[in-house]
Amino acid sequence: MLEVRDIKKTFSKGLVHKKYLRAVDGVSFTIGEKETFGLVGESGCGKTTVGRLILRLMEPDAGDVVFNGTNITGLNKPDLRKMRPKMQILFQDADSSLHPRMRIRESVAEPLKLYNLVPESDIEKKVVELLEMVGLQKEHLNRYPHELSGGQNQRVVLARVLALGPQFIVADEPTSALDVSVQAQILSLMNEMQQKYGFSCLFISHDLSVIRKMTSNMGVMYLGKLVETGRTEDVFETPKHPYTQALISAVRIAGSESLQKTSPIEGETPDPMNPPSGCKFHTRCPQKMDICERVEPEVVNVGNGQVACHLFE
Ligand code: SF4
Repeated sequence: MLEVRDIKKTFSKGLVHKKYLRAVDGVSFTIGEKETFGLVGESGCGKTTVGRLILRLMEPDAGDVVFNGTNITGLNKPDLRKMRPKMQILFQDADSSLHPRMRIRESVAEPLKLYNLVPESDIEKKVVELLEMVGLQKEHLNRYPHELSGGQNQRVVLARVLALGPQFIVADEPTSALDVSVQAQILSLMNEMQQKYGFSCLFISHDLSVIRKMTSNMGVMYLGKLVETGRTEDVFETPKHPYTQALISAVRIAGSESLQKTSPIEGETPDPMNPPSGCKFHTRCPQKMDICERVEPEVVNVGNGQVACHLFE
């Protein structure tokens, strides 16, 4: 369904003394039909940039994204526009994803009109159907986003996304702005909608419990690199990369699965503008060897997953 091949993105900062940040540095993975693939890592590791590069909300510097056999990195704007309904994104902050001066009825009708998906005479009926599907009612039609709760607004955003009949959704921390009980409702609604519509999903989160609950396969990112991928249960039960091991054991010790609520790993995260040589994790790795400072590890197959660490070469 989706194949991401060696994508890269560097940002530059400063007018005179330019500094460069390799936000995404050669990331590759695949997502199967109806599969949810999780991407986890500390903030600033590049996971959100990966989501935007896949959807071409940002242009990658290198690499390919192949969606249903079409290389979308090479598509021109008209062809990309045709592809857009099939590839959608759910942002973290639902309130700012909705136009504050548009009533809910107009917000949900907008994508239907934009892509001429339903005859004008059927739009109202379709909007009500979509709202009911995400657990809202007719009475919400004339409300504005500020009159709804964060959870209700995230339901409206989901209705807008589903209106387009997507085959693939990037869910970028879609529940992290919500209370825990509302989070659980939205996550179970997403599961339900995935069963119904059969879309594939890239689920980005800093919350390990959410990744474990929502995904079947996952990847762990550190400073722009994917350091470990595999089946979610395997990664949690037998983490292989020292960074994954440190993440999992540190959140267990802290009693919180959110990487934002705890400082999970010993040592400072290196300056991403000036990353360490060799393995980027060597400044914090308890299993560091001489080679680690000099040579960047290759990605190797280990069991059903992949790891980038000299311990496995
Ligand atoms: Fe640690 Fe070396 Fe593996 Fe990097 S390559 S994670 S420094 S053992």
